[in-house]
Amino acid sequence: GIRIENLCKSFGDNRVLTNISLEIEPGETFSIIGPSGTGKSVLLKHIVKLEAPDSGRILIDGQDIHEKNPKVPRNYRYSMVFQSSALFNSLSVGENVGLWLRENRICTESRIRRIIREKLRLVGLAGKEAMLTSELSGGMKKRVAIARSLAMNPDLILYDEPTAELDPVTSDELARVIMNLKQSVNLTTIIVTHDLNFALYLSDRVAMINKDGIVEVGTPDQIKASTNPIVRNFIYTTT
Ligand code: ATP
Ligand code: MG
Repeated sequence: GIRIENLCKSFGDNRVLTNISLEIEPGETFSIIGPSGTGKSVLLKHIVKLEAPDSGRILIDGQDIHEKNPKVPRNYRYSMVFQSSALFNSLSVGENVGLWLRENRICTESRIRRIIREKLRLVGLAGKEAMLTSELSGGMKKRVAIARSLAMNPDLILYDEPTAELDPVTSDELARVIMNLKQSVNLTTIIVTHDLNFALYLSDRVAMINKDGIVEVGTPDQIKASTNPIVRNFIYTTT
């Protein structure tokens, strides 16, 4: 599991994360929601070690990942799906998905092709290997980015604003893709989003954060029934 303990982070005078403590169970789909600029992306970056905390810790299976010589379980892999999808436009869909495997010479070419086929199938893009990235819709790009992350065989996948720039129908499709993954792959999922409906639809639990820290953590039903005025206001203004 992942345990975040009293995480604090400022940039100069700008206090961004205040005493964030969360525990995410293995296999859980966990969403973090909150207003713009409250440090949701910064929090994700701490989990993938693109930022280091001012104070507090992040433990993965009991090991502090920001320690000098972290004894993070050797096989613990995480992969982030960035808001921009960050695909290479000059490469085909299959080449994008297989890039990491080929660069790291993880396995034979025939096995790489098999992995590409399998991951594209998992995101509903079976047989689309040869398509050019530039030909894809926003929703398809997102799914290719997910397939590329899955090719690393991660234990943890993180999504930053997966539905940004997607229309509601495409967002629903994406929610179903992410939910289906849960049935087919053994994966812990962390999602950062403004999109409350999306989070409530597919998450096991949701945490709402703001500048002062964690506002509320609970199941979608608990969040919907929350009497916390900050949560009520967020639900009222965003749905
Ligand atoms: P949004 O919903 O708009 O994506 P967010 O909750 O993801 O917002 P962050 O991107 O995490 O917000 O940023 C939180 C604050 O931290 C912002 O004020 C941002 O300007 C600041 N910030 C983020 N990264 C850095 C950095 N590397 N250096 C300085 N300030 C930063
Ligand atoms: Mg963000």
